[in-house]
Amino acid sequence: MLELELPAGTGRVLLHSCCAPCSGAVIECMLANGIVPTVFFSNSNIVPADEYELRKAELKRYCSASGVPVVDDDYDHRAWLEAVRGLEREPERGRRCSACFLFRLRRAVSYAGQNGFDVLTTTLASSRWKDLEQVNAAGEAACAGSSVVWWPQNWRKGGLQPRRGEIIREQGFYNQLFCGCEFSKINEKI
Ligand code: SF4
Repeated sequence: MLELELPAGTGRVLLHSCCAPCSGAVIECMLANGIVPTVFFSNSNIVPADEYELRKAELKRYCSASGVPVVDDDYDHRAWLEAVRGLEREPERGRRCSACFLFRLRRAVSYAGQNGFDVLTTTLASSRWKDLEQVNAAGEAACAGSSVVWWPQNWRKGGLQPRRGEIIREQGFYNQLFCGCEFSKINEKI
């Protein structure tokens, strides 16, 4: 089992989560290490609405069975579009994705700071489609100047990548074929 070590001086973990497939192995690993995170579903990038609701429902189902609390952030796709304005034609892993990560993780930092969480990490980088360094840069930027510490754990290591696939099959998760936003569909790169 992967042994986790929280950043020094931290304890209450807020786990930003993008979807159930990316979250299963991360949550399982945290629980095995005695860490009970609070999951923060904040993904205003996702369209259409029924896709958003489906991803959220799958995550809630898994968290409920695991005894992990979930916070359902407000959905504001209009604000998300403002955050990525001018970057619509960027490729996957380009500047639009950095802005998208930052938008979601800033919301997580805001919630964490207001609710007594001192450390934040995300399931975003558990997918091999995502750039780990890009996600960590957004996490560091989101936490900068706040009381919240960014936890740059590599959630693909320590057997978590194959376990990710096993849990998807065990749970029969809905497993989307595109990242989430309308531009990821258009580009068909994800
Ligand atoms: S492709 Fe994915 S990470 Fe990039 S902007 Fe769209 S939803 Fe966000």
